[in-house]
Amino acid sequence: MKTTLSLLAGAALMLTGATAHAQDFPNKTVTIVVPFAAGGPTDTVARLVGQAMSTALKQQVIVENVGGAGGTLGAGRVARAAPDGYTVLLHHIGHATSATLYRKLPYDTINDFEPVGLVTDVPMTMVAKKDLPPKDFKELVAYVQQNKDKVSYGNAGIGAASHLCGLMFMSAIKAQMTTVAYKGTGPAMNDLLGGQIDLMCDQTTNTTGQIKGGKIKAYAVTTKTRVPSLPDLPTMDEAGIKGFEVSIWHGVYAPKGTPKAAIDKLSAALKVALKDETVVKRFAELGTEPVAQDRATPAALGAHLKAEIAKWAPVIKAAGEYAD
Ligand code: ASP
Repeated sequence: MKTTLSLLAGAALMLTGATAHAQDFPNKTVTIVVPFAAGGPTDTVARLVGQAMSTALKQQVIVENVGGAGGTLGAGRVARAAPDGYTVLLHHIGHATSATLYRKLPYDTINDFEPVGLVTDVPMTMVAKKDLPPKDFKELVAYVQQNKDKVSYGNAGIGAASHLCGLMFMSAIKAQMTTVAYKGTGPAMNDLLGGQIDLMCDQTTNTTGQIKGGKIKAYAVTTKTRVPSLPDLPTMDEAGIKGFEVSIWHGVYAPKGTPKAAIDKLSAALKVALKDETVVKRFAELGTEPVAQDRATPAALGAHLKAEIAKWAPVIKAAGEYAD
């Protein structure tokens, strides 16, 4: 009995300690895990938002790049991290699509994470090395159909947004290219600039500067409507693939079991960061914008993740033949 009581007292003390700890949160550096290589679009979003969250949280926020396997290695690192709010994941649509694309993941996409909030919606662009022959999107489609696997397509691995866009493109035009997987589209962009790969579909947060600088060729955007910062680019739908639409969203997640007090503070800091002048300005230059404040919440991200898994599962299954 004595043992049971002292065990109970110990457990109560531990609980009080955990709650008190969560209340002081954060009292040390917070790490945002980006599941792709440095220098790419997810990294860019995380560094901008992380900097502004650091001011709001009055603590250092650092970015750790854990690239590989289309974002699933980094997601796995966060699923297994201590559930204390000090390690969070900033991932994109790939967190939803990998649930269908992978036969087995080293984590449960929904049950191993606590959603913190949505961050941004980002258009994608179909871009090529500067001297790829096709002059417009229509010619590009014919070129890929004629040359098929002689055309190399860079992506950030199965489950990445660049993978999803390529999968849908190849399925729509019924031509399989040779895919080259990187740990992120930061390094893939270097190879596109160097002409080692031919084509890529990537977020405007990674391509806008290179398009405007004339360093790569751009054919179309993947959103339903044109992108204000790249007004000359047609949508894929306008350019010939009717109904084509991919928009990339980012979300922040903590490991399952993270105390609510820490989640609430992270979500509040995310909301402040999304109103930060530098973030808003830089996002606009890069063709994106922060989500509305009521979407930077755990409930909105939780619901969106489930809806996106359900939305993409049949599309991915139908396009399966082109999945690499
Ligand atoms: N967003 C990129 C992709 O999904 C990867 C990255 O951020 O590097 O392809």
